[in-house]
Amino acid sequence: MADSYIILDGKKIANEIKDEIASEVKSIVSVGGKTPHLAAILVGDDGASQTYVNNKIKACTRVGFEYTLLNFPATISEAKLISEIERINNDDDIDGLIVQLPLPAHVSSAKVTECIRPEKDVDGFTNLNYGRITSNNPGLMPATPYGILELLKRYNIDIKGRHCVMVGNSRTVGAPMSIIMSYHEYATVTVCHIHTQKLEEFTRQADILIVATGKPGLIKGDMVKEGVVVVDVGITRIETDENERGYYLKGDVEFGQVAPKASYITPVPGGVGPMTIASLLLNTLKATRNGAAHSA
Ligand code: NAD
Repeated sequence: MADSYIILDGKKIANEIKDEIASEVKSIVSVGGKTPHLAAILVGDDGASQTYVNNKIKACTRVGFEYTLLNFPATISEAKLISEIERINNDDDIDGLIVQLPLPAHVSSAKVTECIRPEKDVDGFTNLNYGRITSNNPGLMPATPYGILELLKRYNIDIKGRHCVMVGNSRTVGAPMSIIMSYHEYATVTVCHIHTQKLEEFTRQADILIVATGKPGLIKGDMVKEGVVVVDVGITRIETDENERGYYLKGDVEFGQVAPKASYITPVPGGVGPMTIASLLLNTLKATRNGAAHSA
């Protein structure tokens, strides 16, 4: 048994990144540069989405960004939503735009996302930014994979030549993460998903195991090897009577079983979530710099 594991403390690292961004914003503004400005579109009144957007707004305030929140009713038409996005695309004061997902069923998330100007797409979801992952000069990287990579790097975790097993192949997390780990970081990558048979045969081979499935507790202690580095992306609300909120958050990894075998492991909450927000801020800063460069 690994005698102790190290927590990959996303909250702490995200706070360090926010401090770095805040001091950069101060120095940009002190020489008359533009204050970065992030806009968020929230459709409907889903509680989890509201929480995510509020956390992003709080983070903007903390680092000295301006923010604009546009909250539309769930009945908004796709055409109206797209026209709002186009308005923001053409607003020179706004550097970054996020459209909080999920959107109501009558609105196509893919179509709406694709309407965001790639230069302002700080979630990194548009096809152009997605495709540019496989370029040596990536654009705005998908925020969650970018945050995970930053977390691993700040803990000096070796990636090159190691076997990374990615469980989940979603467009927003698993697929781009697997590309980044192989193309940019030279890990040997295995991608598993819902149709993978004998998942445990793959997860047991992982030097670095990244799990993004939304299936709470999917990865048990007997599915990993000693010394594995574990990144748990999953966040599921589990109902409970034991706290006032009425729920607690659970990851895709059975932490109590897996942590004793791991060398490093992310907690849920406090692991990947804060890093995703930090990446959004980094992307917004990059978008502001790029915008300033284009308008200079
Ligand atoms: P998704 O539903 O789009 O994709 C889930 C993926 O898991 C799919 O590739 C599917 O094939 C795979 N999968 C499902 N069940 C599986 C199983 N039994 N075995 C193997 N693979 C299985 O989800 P997503 O958007 O990638 O999100 C996954 C989780 O990560 C969710 O809990 C989500 O809330 C969370 N998430 C967290 C952050 C963050 O910042 N912390 C960001 C994005 C997503």
